[in-house]
This record gives sequence, structure tokens and C-alpha cells, in this order.
Amino acid sequence: MIHEVLSVGLLQCNCSIFGDEQSREAIVIDPGDEAESIVAVVEKHGLTVKAIVITHAHIDHIGGAAKLKALTGAPVYMNSADTGLYDHLSVQASWLGFKAPERTEIDVEVHDGDVVRLPNAEFQILHTPGHTQGSISLWIPSENKLIAGDTLFRDSIGRTDLPGGDGRQILRSIRDKLLTLPDTAIVVPGHGSNTTIGRERERNPFLEGL
Ligand SMILES: [Zn+2]
Repeated sequence: MIHEVLSVGLLQCNCSIFGDEQSREAIVIDPGDEAESIVAVVEKHGLTVKAIVITHAHIDHIGGAAKLKALTGAPVYMNSADTGLYDHLSVQASWLGFKAPERTEIDVEVHDGDVVRLPNAEFQILHTPGHTQGSISLWIPSENKLIAGDTLFRDSIGRTDLPGGDGRQILRSIRDKLLTLPDTAIVVPGHGSNTTIGRERERNPFLEGL
């Protein structure tokens, strides 16, 4: 499986591009910005984007979705609990002093237990609310990889002081949905360096006592 991570936009969101080597089909997760750079990676590998999946509707994760959809024709997947946040994209832009990006329709609502597929890999949707109410993580068993959005970081967890955030809920999500994964599972967070479930279980100060 092809897997490239691009840090996009001013807040350096980790955008993942997964490509199936046989079918050349791809899934893009969190096109926060720089849709043209994402398309350049897609084209470099000769891929066709089948799905654009959004871990949550913060502007740094979803800001490039409309443009990427226009460039690739791929449908956008998101949990509907973040629709309200997405409706206020221009408010989010103003917090950061950004120009509001174009908005797109959400084509497919994803829920806990849903699976988005490439021919040789399942992307299992885990609803992990707390950073936002619609936050999801994606578990890819065949790759032993977790795309964690802004729920779990190396040595940290997502902030819960923004609208829709809940500090107890994010810890419950991490305990019940993420710490149940193998210790060897590679975690690709929404920002910063990769880690593993085992490392965070042992060393992440926010997870003490979970
Ligand atoms: Zn966020």
C-alpha cells in the first residue's frame, strides 16, 4: 500500500494519501489545505481518488476538501455530528485570520463501525468524540495503522476548549476505542510526529490512570 503524509496549511495538518498498488485507487484523509499539492502526489503515483475522508470539521482538516473534490470528483465522507462546525467554517476562518475557503456538500455520513474500502484494505471508522462531537479515527488493520485526527497525539491529546469539545469524553474515546488497539499499532496523528499505541499508553501524561 502506498501511504504518503503531507503536512498542509499554516497549522501543518497531516494529510494522508493511501493508494492501492494494483487498482491505483486512493483514499485521502484530511485535505486541510494545499489541494494542488495533494493532487500532485496522487498523480505522481498514477492514482484515482475514490474517497475524501474528514476526521473532523476544523478548518485545518477540512479547508481543502471542496477544492480537492472539484479537482478529483471524489465524494466527501464525514460524521454528521460535525455538520454544525462545518456550517461555521467562516467563523473558524476568522478565529485564525484566514480567508474562508469554499464549502462543499458532505456526500457520505460515516458512523462508528462503518468501513471505507480500498480493494486490499479496510478503513474502519471509530467514532471518537471529545475534540469535536463528530471526531472520527480510522483503523486500518492490514497496515496496523491508526489515523487519529486530533484525538491522540504523541505525548498529548486534542484540545477540548473549543466549541463542541469535552475533556472527559475525549479520554473515554481514547480508553474505549484507541487503547484497545495493539501496542504495536502506528498512530498517525492530525499534527506532528507518528507514535504507537504502546508508547502513548506508557508515556502520554494525559492518559495516566485510564
Ligand atoms: Zn481539530
